[in-house]
Amino acid sequence: MPVRIGVLSLQGDYLAHGAMLRQLPGVEACLVRDAVELGEAQGLIIPGGESTTIGKLLDRAGLIEPIQQRALAGMPVYGTCAGLILMAQRIEGSDQHRLGLLDMLVARNAFGRQIDSFEAAVPVSVLGDEPVRGVFIRAPYVVEAGPGVEVLARYEDRIVAVRQGVLMASAFHPELTNDVRMHRLFADMVRSAPSDGR
Ligand code: GLN
Repeated sequence: MPVRIGVLSLQGDYLAHGAMLRQLPGVEACLVRDAVELGEAQGLIIPGGESTTIGKLLDRAGLIEPIQQRALAGMPVYGTCAGLILMAQRIEGSDQHRLGLLDMLVARNAFGRQIDSFEAAVPVSVLGDEPVRGVFIRAPYVVEAGPGVEVLARYEDRIVAVRQGVLMASAFHPELTNDVRMHRLFADMVRSAPSDGR
């Protein structure tokens, strides 16, 4: 049986995530725009985009609580960039809508103006020796990670990828490269999740 992974499709680069997932054998991708579509997914990707906008749209779609409940019950969730921000419990200087799933404090647009967007080789501990090409676009980073949060990657001493149980987040955008390893890792998490909370 293929695993069915939903991509939150309210705003942002959700199409790129769908295209990534479709390259993986044994994975089906579906769009998630409301609670009914969420019910069809075994795992969920929160894309990059604008976190305040996605947060508002999540609220309007009545999706915040259902996603929180599913995640608490074991559904794997992976957020990239704005998705990482939305997954954080604490966001520096902001009371924007959020899912608040991960025990961490994040700073938005945190790499400064001069380097608004950049690419860098980023070693990711669980992916072996070959670093990923980290695409950072007005990216956040993790200022503080709680004790239960595993740091998967740092860039210049800043935490840029984390995992806490079934939850994973990266400040960079693997969906904008042709390296499928982060998505494969997430698909494996979905495949091996003991329960997806449905
Ligand atoms: N700067 C955006 C925000 O704060 C995130 C950028 C992105 O997802 N590429 O939401």
